[in-house]
Amino acid sequence: MAEAYKIIDHTYDAVVVGAGGSGLRAAMGIAETGLKVACITKVFPTRSHTVAAQGGIAASLGNMGPDHWQWHMYDTVKGSDWLGDQDAIEYLCREAPKAVYELEHFGVPFSRTEEGKIYQRAFGGMTQNMGDGPPAQRTCAAADRTGHAMLHALYQQSLKHDTDFYIEYFAIDLIMVDGECKGVIALNMEDGSIHRFRSHSVVLATGGYGRCYFSATSAHTSTGDGGGMAIRAGVPMQDMEFVQFHPTGIYGAGVLITEGARGEGGYLTNAQGERFMERYAPSAKDLASRDVVSRSMAMEIREGRGVGAEGDHINLHLNHIDPAVLHERLPGISETAKIFAGVDVTKEPIPVTPTVHYNMGGIPTNYHGEVVTLKDGDPDSVVPGLFAVGEAACVSVHGANRLGSNSLIDLVVFGRATAHRVGATIKPFTTHSPLPEDSADFALGRLDGYRFSKGGSPTAAVRLAMQKTMQANAGVFRTSEVLEEGQRKIDAVYQQMADIGIADRSMVFNTDLIETLELDNMIGQAVLTMHMAASRHESRGAHMHEDFPKRDDDSWMKHSLGWFRDGGVRLDTRPVHSYTLSDEIAYIKPKARVY
Ligand code: FAD
Repeated sequence: MAEAYKIIDHTYDAVVVGAGGSGLRAAMGIAETGLKVACITKVFPTRSHTVAAQGGIAASLGNMGPDHWQWHMYDTVKGSDWLGDQDAIEYLCREAPKAVYELEHFGVPFSRTEEGKIYQRAFGGMTQNMGDGPPAQRTCAAADRTGHAMLHALYQQSLKHDTDFYIEYFAIDLIMVDGECKGVIALNMEDGSIHRFRSHSVVLATGGYGRCYFSATSAHTSTGDGGGMAIRAGVPMQDMEFVQFHPTGIYGAGVLITEGARGEGGYLTNAQGERFMERYAPSAKDLASRDVVSRSMAMEIREGRGVGAEGDHINLHLNHIDPAVLHERLPGISETAKIFAGVDVTKEPIPVTPTVHYNMGGIPTNYHGEVVTLKDGDPDSVVPGLFAVGEAACVSVHGANRLGSNSLIDLVVFGRATAHRVGATIKPFTTHSPLPEDSADFALGRLDGYRFSKGGSPTAAVRLAMQKTMQANAGVFRTSEVLEEGQRKIDAVYQQMADIGIADRSMVFNTDLIETLELDNMIGQAVLTMHMAASRHESRGAHMHEDFPKRDDDSWMKHSLGWFRDGGVRLDTRPVHSYTLSDEIAYIKPKARVY
């Protein structure tokens, strides 16, 4: 090792890495059971990416019309293009109303109906009566700042329950001993000190890896660090080929205009002023699911009906909606459109284009949040001590395509389930077995590898090459040719990691070093996304493969699994759970997915 680090030791029952909606819900829940819990986060908790969530959180409260958890489940299964695990989806939809009322009691200031109930708006793919009825108003909203409100309430609750926060600490790697997770090594970014957290359980709640792409609505911190740590610990990633493009990123800026804007009556037009969604999704129109709307927009642009001098975007109209309603329901959107597109939404349309938004794939878990792997032929084999939750995880409730507002509910339902599982399996004051002397060597060796590297490639240049490759070769439409080229290119970008050289060797607030570690976390997931996309020879949900334009349930009704080590990729599959948890609902059989 290039330098002997002084290591500061901590001992906890559980450590949660991440203080977004999922991490905070898990941390406060674990603390509530009486266990000693630490929450490590690279940004201040209320700056976690969840703060950006606008539109709302799905739960079948039925405040604005009839609704049932079974209808929510049907829509989620259909939205997932039948790739979601139906046991986990049943759990999500049954628990959702309870989880929202819990948030209300934690202090989330939801918008209200005239009678004082939680306000709910329409979102894409959410319907009544098992898909046969009109749109369901199921998405509970705190104006267009739902994530912000949730994060503040959950942070307060975590403090109330005595979670120990380690803020602006960067988790580098897991401590794995004989296949079990025993803790995590982290760097205090402010003073450069190294910390070893020994714990019975580690929960990865690190969010998505959207920043693998050039244009994404996600925060610059969404670098998939948990996925990177899991990959290095030998855990496979699941369903990485399914990357959601949100239909309405602001053209040129990538900033999101929530689907709630269409939920409040907004609609899309092409250069001819035509409401083209009526052709692609005659019943749901602008509120079809995201993959359908994004593809329809891309088709319009491809066929020469895009808007603007270069015909490369689409218009989103809110200008027919009463300005008082816009002010009350979508205040943030009006401001965002003004700042990033120079548009007054009460008078002009907003220029929008499909933009990377969410990762359906991630670290495979069961519905208790336990990380699972394929071991000795068992596809549900639990990795002892390791949990994952939120966008970092793949439970899988979103399958091949997530419905809008189903992520926030995923965070709190599975954050809570994870806390229950940790609480049920660990007794307070359980003693820790000693860690091997070299328990920090792997993490610190990796840190030193970049810190003292003498390569000639700046991190930003390698990152840009990765982002451009992902954008060009793993986009809304894919072909065998484009994906083959993508595999060659992304593999070559991975090789450039060995040539990275950073100018600053210090340990104190060294953003160059942190960005390099983040890039190292992203690159494995970028490689897996490309290779898994190339191997899935069908079109399902967000994965539109033009050489295999149909869904193929006979060959591909299965999750993809991918391991990555030293540039090598190994792929396998695991079955989709085609069973439910209770007999209150039967397995929802696959059928054509039309809106
Ligand atoms: P995040 O909120 O991303 O938090 C990740 C946490 O991990 C942070 O605290 C970070 O500090 C920490 N972390 C990461 N790496 C490390 C590391 N190495 N060391 C220490 N800490 C680390 N979904 C909905 O359901 N409804 C919506 O209305 C909605 N709106 C959205 C709007 C936008 C613009 C976007 C991009 C997404 C939206 N989504 C929405 C999706 C949803 O917001 C996200 O999927 C969700 O917030 C992710 O939460 P999380 O808890 O998994 O992670």
